[in-house]
Amino acid sequence: MTVKTILRMGDPRLLQQAQPVTDFAGAELRTLIDDMRDTMQAAGGVGLAAPQIGVGLQVVIFGFQQSVRYPDAESVPETVLINPVITPLDDETEDGWEGCLSVPGLRGLVPRSRAIRYQGRDENGQAIDRSVSGFHARVVQHECDHLQGRLYPMRIRDFTKFGFTEVLFPGLE
Ligand code: ZN
Repeated sequence: MTVKTILRMGDPRLLQQAQPVTDFAGAELRTLIDDMRDTMQAAGGVGLAAPQIGVGLQVVIFGFQQSVRYPDAESVPETVLINPVITPLDDETEDGWEGCLSVPGLRGLVPRSRAIRYQGRDENGQAIDRSVSGFHARVVQHECDHLQGRLYPMRIRDFTKFGFTEVLFPGLE
């Protein structure tokens, strides 16, 4: 079990474009995914992207039954998503509160596509193809943004809805 240090906003590695995974059979990918799981669990997060632990590969993990950080969110299946492609299903966007393990202590209201299709591979190279909406769609868009060097504050339009979690939502982390 290896809990890695999560890079924080300001680190240039969070701003880089991640590269596609080509080797699905090697031990390197297994180790990366194990480390990401351990790190996300230790931090109590609902998702993590490889660049957040300093690895520039297109790998994200997400999912939870019940989240302390997002107590009102419906559950999201635990997923490893590699080389993802996201396609919005319509033009509708919706605002929702987001935080990020790389931007600790803060939350912001972020517009995202309401419903998306996402495709990619799982850790065994098997195809994933899902159409989702709501918080599930939001988490996937947030994590995949990391693969393109984008952090959620870059998407905030209304900066009156950006602040410290403990002030905005007393009792939440
Ligand atoms: Zn994040």
